[in-house]
Amino acid sequence: MSDDSRIDFQEVDEGAGEIELTPPELFAANLIEWALERHVSDLFLSDVDGAVMVTVRRLGRIEPVRRFAPAYGHRLQGHFRVLAGADAGEAVRPSEGRGRLTTPDGSTAHLRLSCVPTVFGHDVAIRLFDPRRGRRSIQQLGMDTVDVQAIERLVRRKSGLILVTGPVASGKSCTLYAMLDYLNNGTKKIHTIEDPVEHPISGIMQSQVNTKLKMDFADLLTVVLRHSPDVIMIGEVRDRQTARTAVRAGASGQLVLATVHSRSAAEAIEMMLQYESDHKFLSSSLCGVINQRLIRRLCPECRQPFEITDVYEVPDRVRTRMGQDNPTVFTAGQCNTCHDGGFDHLISMPEVMVVDDQIINAISNRATATEIESISITNGMLTLPEVALSYVMRGLTSIDEVNQVLNDPVLAGLGRQWNRE
Ligand SMILES: [Zn+2]
Repeated sequence: MSDDSRIDFQEVDEGAGEIELTPPELFAANLIEWALERHVSDLFLSDVDGAVMVTVRRLGRIEPVRRFAPAYGHRLQGHFRVLAGADAGEAVRPSEGRGRLTTPDGSTAHLRLSCVPTVFGHDVAIRLFDPRRGRRSIQQLGMDTVDVQAIERLVRRKSGLILVTGPVASGKSCTLYAMLDYLNNGTKKIHTIEDPVEHPISGIMQSQVNTKLKMDFADLLTVVLRHSPDVIMIGEVRDRQTARTAVRAGASGQLVLATVHSRSAAEAIEMMLQYESDHKFLSSSLCGVINQRLIRRLCPECRQPFEITDVYEVPDRVRTRMGQDNPTVFTAGQCNTCHDGGFDHLISMPEVMVVDDQIINAISNRATATEIESISITNGMLTLPEVALSYVMRGLTSIDEVNQVLNDPVLAGLGRQWNRE
């Protein structure tokens, strides 16, 4: 493609929407290429008052891209809906679909589209998958070696329940896929139950929940258990029957990987106990909990050392995770590599609770989440704020970034102190 046909993205005019002369097909292909270069995960084409707004989610944050006159914006929405096989004529009900698109530079993007009617028209949401970057291995999630090894030990078990927890968009499914990738070596029968299936993986039996056909997680799980699985991945445990079946499968010879919504590893156990009232069953099944957040990694090309006059004494527990690295604090810079954003990737920040004999006893004896957490901390688990501090001290991310993701008084205090200096 010649340079003069390059489209200037992110020239947002706050006024009325622009009229674009590029055909929608060409604009769409260029937009996707531009988005993939910038690690955009989602693209939105939304009817707003008198215009169609194009925004993206990049490294977890929403950024505006362009604002179009409605006629052109609707052609663009329509093009993506046709591409994804989502009923483009459907104006009243939500529609969804999947498709793939080849960008001008020759790469292929897979997309999953969802369209929902809104007050001003439609909101078209497109999730992008870049097969070149695709899935990550456990080592590539960005966790430190101690946590990577702990997770690999967990998934090498023959049976048991491993929970991955955290809020929405905390990278839970990325971690689950990395675990499946680790296990998918042709020697095990692996099934997944997902809502929806995010990446098709060769060698794995993936089934999608379909509530319209009354096929929920629990229904599919019951059927999948008859297919002699070694490993089952459950996209989300959100009802009693799924929880009970998952716990029993883990206790009777299968390896079960599942996500639940909770704020901490210990709270995930409490959450499971609300569904599965039998403490003995859970304690004999559960082998580990990974509670995680996603955090933006500082661009190594342009990060700036932060001068701290008051030397901060890194606690020993955190120090042990820093290897040979000398504590150095950095802040975001600007360069071409990170498109001036200062950050280049999203990395996982985990709190890994390995269920040992003491925790098994604690669960059987109906200990509270706080009690279970303190046993785990004594036995070596770093809490999320401690892992965050080690990331800051290794220059992986900035103190301001962790304070946007976590709500921790110690880290907030450090942020205030360092920003004053
Ligand atoms: Zn940079």
